[in-house]
Amino acid sequence: MRKKLRSRIFIHSLALLTASFFLAGAGAAAQEPGGEPQESEAPAVYEAEDASFAGNVHKEAFQPGYSGDGYAAGFAGDEDACTFQVQITQDGFYDLNFVSAAVGGYKENYVFVDGASAGEVSVEDMSFTDSVLTRVYLAEGEHEVTIKKFWGWILLDRLEITESEELDETMYEVSAHLCNPNASESAKRLMSFLADQYGKKILSGQYSSQGQLGKEFTVIHRVTDKYPAILGLDFIEYSPSRAANGSTSKATEYAMNYWKNGGIVTFCWHWNPPEKYFTREWWRAFYTDSTNIDLAAILNGEDEEGYQLLMEDIDAIAKQLAILQEADVPVLWRPLHEASGGWFWWGAAGPEAYKKLYVLLYDKLTNEYGLNNLIWVWNGQDKAWYPGDEYVDIIGEDLYPGERVYASQIDAYLNAVHYTDAHKMVVMSENGCVFDPELAVRDGAMWGFFCTWEGEFVAKNMAIYAYSEQYTEESMLKKAYDSDVVLTLEDLPDLTTYPIREDE
Ligand code: CA
Repeated sequence: MRKKLRSRIFIHSLALLTASFFLAGAGAAAQEPGGEPQESEAPAVYEAEDASFAGNVHKEAFQPGYSGDGYAAGFAGDEDACTFQVQITQDGFYDLNFVSAAVGGYKENYVFVDGASAGEVSVEDMSFTDSVLTRVYLAEGEHEVTIKKFWGWILLDRLEITESEELDETMYEVSAHLCNPNASESAKRLMSFLADQYGKKILSGQYSSQGQLGKEFTVIHRVTDKYPAILGLDFIEYSPSRAANGSTSKATEYAMNYWKNGGIVTFCWHWNPPEKYFTREWWRAFYTDSTNIDLAAILNGEDEEGYQLLMEDIDAIAKQLAILQEADVPVLWRPLHEASGGWFWWGAAGPEAYKKLYVLLYDKLTNEYGLNNLIWVWNGQDKAWYPGDEYVDIIGEDLYPGERVYASQIDAYLNAVHYTDAHKMVVMSENGCVFDPELAVRDGAMWGFFCTWEGEFVAKNMAIYAYSEQYTEESMLKKAYDSDVVLTLEDLPDLTTYPIREDE
């Protein structure tokens, strides 16, 4: 885990109207009451300098290019925020464009609507530019839209509100075809099932390093009387540099058991690098800040020993995947996760080195080791890190929006949908809190599955297993697991006989 959410930035084709066209702070919604939505409608504009400020936020007018009388600056401390009172004349979905400038490079900040988290917006340009949170549902009436310091360091000129474009529902039509032409029957059956459900149902999932009998599954079952459809596991302890320090794992065994019990398994791999690259404690060496490994040097031949060592690491994990293949267990395989965040060493050398490693890993596992039980879940979380359609079966996003945030994360969903034109399935490969499935359906955020991270996200850190409501209240967990839209272990068909869809 580790969180990263990069919102889509795009440029409106609409000509920007000057602020003088509107009465500051009282802009009309993007649409006439009762009228049909029209793309050409001008946005409602609310100048930041006329909004309410909290903390150190204040009006400035030094940086050129603003509209109105200036902009809001001073987003530096946790209390710093700017709140707009907006008037919406019709229930619907709206794009919120926080026209702003970044101070010294890429910045992300929180957006709240009426006090509830609505997502994050990002801006990279140092001049005033669009920074859009797409598809926020707003009912008719007055709303408070707040931008609050996460990274801070933006100059906020204005908020523009336009009606969202209608969703293109063909994005839910995904192929069941797997990249690997030799994919096993069981992998094809699983992918066929996932593709058949996609856009209609959402599979529940839960990470647990102790498998089905671990605390996470125990407390979820206690609250919901159900088990998740997907068990999430980590090959972390099979990394040779951890095994050398005494780590052991039963993850492979837990995966086989869950599959036998009718469930689905997904694996990530917190790849602990070879010991020679440790700069801090061995158990946290997968973090960039704890290793001096240089992936670029390894891949361009400067560090030949490093290359050999990485191949030995891959060999260790390939052996575990081979055990699963032997048992005919298909795996939703999510290696090299959250790469673009840079906090893991495989993302620290930038997208080109990462993509090389991803493709190398794909090639070795698929063609050298003959692992045909893998469904490749790419989790680079940035379009520039996408290795190509021929190496990706599913796109995963990891989202940790905070505590008890039940929003569907539609903005992140659509962002991921647009990494490629190839209509890949998009899943929430990790999450902290569980989103409200009702909101997912309303917003069109039809994640193929979610998979809540382990530990504190569901269970209290106590000897006696107890559910933790810190991230998701019991009532919401129950709502999710009871939802007709959400599939649990109990809802899964026999995946060993599920019909294979012969898609292109
Ligand atoms: Ca302004």
